Amino acid sequence: MINYSISFDNPSNQYITVKINFTSTETEHEIQLPSWRPGRYELGNFAKNVKSFTIYENNRPLSFQKITKDRWKFTCSKNESISVEYKYYANELNAGSTFLSDNQLYVNPVNCCAYIHGKQNEPFTLLLDIPTNYQIACGLEKNKNTLSGNSFDELADSPLICSPTLKHNTYESNNTLFHIWFQGEVKPQWDKIITDFKKFTDKQIEKFGDFPVKEYHFLIQISPYRTYHGVEHKTSTVIHLGPSIDIFGDVYSDLLGVSSHELYHTWNVKSIRPIEMFPYDFTKENYSELGYLCEGVTTYMGDLMLLKSGVFTIEEYLKEMETQIQKHLDNEGRNNYSVANSSFDTWLDGYVPGAPGRKVSIYTEGCLLTFILDVKIIQNSNGKHSFDDVMRYLFVEFYKKNKGVSKEDYKNTVEKFAKEDLTEFWTKHIDGKVTFLPILEESFEKLGLKLVLNENNNLSSEKLGIKAVFNGTNQTIKVILTDSSAEKTGLSIEDEIVAINSFEVKNELDKWLNYFSNDKINLLIKRKGRFINLDLNHEGNISFVKSKILVNSTNNLLFKKWIS
Ligand SMILES: [Zn+2]
Repeated sequence: MINYSISFDNPSNQYITVKINFTSTETEHEIQLPSWRPGRYELGNFAKNVKSFTIYENNRPLSFQKITKDRWKFTCSKNESISVEYKYYANELNAGSTFLSDNQLYVNPVNCCAYIHGKQNEPFTLLLDIPTNYQIACGLEKNKNTLSGNSFDELADSPLICSPTLKHNTYESNNTLFHIWFQGEVKPQWDKIITDFKKFTDKQIEKFGDFPVKEYHFLIQISPYRTYHGVEHKTSTVIHLGPSIDIFGDVYSDLLGVSSHELYHTWNVKSIRPIEMFPYDFTKENYSELGYLCEGVTTYMGDLMLLKSGVFTIEEYLKEMETQIQKHLDNEGRNNYSVANSSFDTWLDGYVPGAPGRKVSIYTEGCLLTFILDVKIIQNSNGKHSFDDVMRYLFVEFYKKNKGVSKEDYKNTVEKFAKEDLTEFWTKHIDGKVTFLPILEESFEKLGLKLVLNENNNLSSEKLGIKAVFNGTNQTIKVILTDSSAEKTGLSIEDEIVAINSFEVKNELDKWLNYFSNDKINLLIKRKGRFINLDLNHEGNISFVKSKILVNSTNNLLFKKWIS
C-alpha cells in the first residue's frame, strides 16, 4: 500500500506539499515523477516544479541521488517506514495542470505524484488535507477526505478539484451515474445541459454496447477569459472553457463538442489503446503513429455523435466539419508530411504551430480520413455497417481481451468492414502525403452533400496569401503561403504591417488593401524592431481557399445510415 497526502499552507504562494509513505521492500529504491501526461504526447517535465525534495526513514533524513531529470535513487533498510516529501509549484491552470488558488485546489496527480519503481501496481490512498467547507470532485473511490485506488495508473488518471464553490448535478444513462461539476464563475442551465449530455451519452453507449466504468465525472473549469481545452481520463474528463458570460450562449456548442469528444475517449484511447502505450511508460516518449486513430477518430466521432443523437442539427454539424476542412486547406504541411509521421512527431512539436508547412494536425487530418473511411464502409456494405462497427470491434476484440492495437490491427479492422483492400489508401493518404481532397469531395457527394471551395473574399488572404492577427497595435503576419504575392514581396512571418502607402493600417488591413486596390502599394513593415519599405509584388498566384458544405438532398440511404 502506498499512502499519498496533499496539503497546503498558504494558497497565495501556490506550493502544495506532497508526501508519499510506504514500507521499503528493498535496500535500494527509485522514485519517478512522470515526465509526460497521457492525452498530451510531448514531454511535460513536471519535475521543474518540485522543490525541497527529501526522503526519511523512520523520520530520519536519508541521502539520495538524482539519476535522471525526474528520477531519484536512495538506499535504506528493508521493511522500514519511508517517507518522501516535496513541494510542487501549482500555478498553471489548464485542463491537464495542477493549480492552487484562494478558492480551489485542483490537482492532476500525473503532474505532481511520484511513484516508487516496481510498486506501480500496488493499491494506494490519497489523503487531501483541505478546509472543512471544501467539496471534492474526482473519479476515485472516496471516503471522507481520502481517495483510493488500485494502481499508480489509476491515480495518475484521476484529476480532482477541491473547492467550496463547486456546482454539481447528475444524470443517469444505461445504469451509469454521470456527474457534472462546474468550478469558476458560471450560471449552469441544468435542464438544458443535462438533456443534451444525456442524449449524446445514450448514443455513444448504444454504439459501443456498454460503458467501461461504473461512474463518470465531467470536471469543468470555467474561466472569465476565452479558453478551450479538454483532457480525457477513464472515469472523468477535465474541460477548461471560457469566458463565463458565454458558456450557455456562444460557447455552448464548444462545451457540447469538447464534452462529447472527451466522453468518446473513454472508449477510444482510455480503453482502445495503441500497442506502443500499452502500458504507458511515464519515464520517456511513447512514440506512436496512431494519432489518427486516437485523436482523429475521436474528433470525427465526438461531433458526429452530437448529430446522431439529435443534439446538433445537420447545419450545426457541417459548420464544425467546415472548420476542419478549412484547417486542412490552410496548412501547407499537408503537402510535406504525412499524418502518421506527424503523429510520431507530437513528441517533438505537436502542440505548437512550429516551422511553417512542416507537419499536419493528427486531429484535423485524422478526422477527415475517418469521415472518408466511414462513407466507404457505409457504401460498400449497402448501409449495413458504418465506422461505429470498427470502433465497437476494437473495443470488444482488443480492450476486452486486454490487448493494445497496432497499426496493422487498425487497418485490418477497417478493411474487415469496408470489405476492401486499403493498402493503397494507407500508403498514399495515411503514411504518405498524397492529397485526399478529390476523395473527400466524392464522399460528400455520396451522402447528398456538396463541398464547395471558393476564393477567399478576405483581401489579405486572397491578394497577399497571408493570415494576420491584430496584436493591439498592428497586424502581425502568422501564415504566408508558398509562391504567394506576400512571399514574392519579401514578407516574413511575424512581420508587422504598419502602413500602406504611408497610412497607418492598425486593424484595417483589408480595408486599406481594398482602398488602394487600383494603385501601386508600398508596405511599411516592422521586423524585429526595424522598419522596412517593400513594394507589393502582385505576381503571386496562390491564395487561401474557403470551404463550404451545401446540403443537396438528404433523402438517400447512405445519408440516413450516416446520421443514425
Ligand atoms: Zn482528444
